[in-house]
Amino acid sequence: MILVVGGAGYIGSHLVKDLIKKEQVIVLDNLSSGHQQAINDNAIFVHGDLKNEFEYDFLFDKYPIKAVFHFAACSLVGESVINPQKYYENNVGSTLKLLNLMIKHKIKNIIFSSTAATYGIPNCKLIDEAVPTIPVNPYGRSKLMIEQILADYAKSYDINYSILRYFNAAGADVSGEIGESHNPETHLIPIVLQHLYGIREKVNIFGTDYDTPDGTCIRDYIHVTDLVNAHITALEALLKGEIKNQIYNLGNGKGYSVKEVIQTCEMITDIKCKIKIGERRIGDPPVLVASSKKIEEELGWKAERNLEQIIKTAWRWQQNQRY
Ligand code: UDP
Repeated sequence: MILVVGGAGYIGSHLVKDLIKKEQVIVLDNLSSGHQQAINDNAIFVHGDLKNEFEYDFLFDKYPIKAVFHFAACSLVGESVINPQKYYENNVGSTLKLLNLMIKHKIKNIIFSSTAATYGIPNCKLIDEAVPTIPVNPYGRSKLMIEQILADYAKSYDINYSILRYFNAAGADVSGEIGESHNPETHLIPIVLQHLYGIREKVNIFGTDYDTPDGTCIRDYIHVTDLVNAHITALEALLKGEIKNQIYNLGNGKGYSVKEVIQTCEMITDIKCKIKIGERRIGDPPVLVASSKKIEEELGWKAERNLEQIIKTAWRWQQNQRY
């Protein structure tokens, strides 16, 4: 049995849809930003909040939980600058409670969702796990603090973790049944597709004066299904005892500029985008591209889907969106 904390959210719900084919799954989610409709019908759903131990402590007695996936977090960079308290309480404070319960109930394995935001503004073309982590906002710092807590806990208690640092998760399940749905939406691909679908007036490009070939920021977009496969690969390796306390970057290893993403969306939908060039968004690094060589070499995982597949599945979801 596997506990998925935050299993009603974007990435968590995609993981549950696949994991349920192999394991029994319990989803714990407070539905603050997730959607109950996104949770696979075969999973057990518990409505609860990580910060309230009494809402989920019983799960560890009731079910033989082998491992925990932890997706539940606030993840808006701008909001984290305005309201750091929310980020340190919800992300760091609540995770501590979860970890302490895991120790109490002797649950060993945890797969933790971390982020490229832990690297801050790195000065290199391809970011591998050895690049120094110098986050530049409370969101990135909250994730890095949890990583550090995990490392300390693993030294002193019987905890075995995999930390997965995501680059730009995007796309949707190929079925079109689940996908990305944030409110407010801040991510580039859904924003462009909402506009092309006719429910957003235009797309603002945040800065065209970066030191990149076309002046717009470059990101490494990774299909949510590739992310799910990496999680399942990491789970299997953890359960078999093949890896212990590892950090892996998850990306495609290929960067696309904001303008290239918009052009690809136009090509796939055959609709022209109305663009407004705006100011830079505070805290945006010019280029973030992952090296995922470590997980490829150690676990044989590699992203298989390209930007076109990301946008095609995201467009299908946009046209079918149920929540
Ligand atoms: N971006 C943009 N307009 C938008 C949303 C995003 O120009 O309406 C840019 C943003 O500045 C960044 C890139 O698109 O350079 C990806 O942003 P997103 O928020 O999707 O992901 P992030 O890299 O911030 O996690």
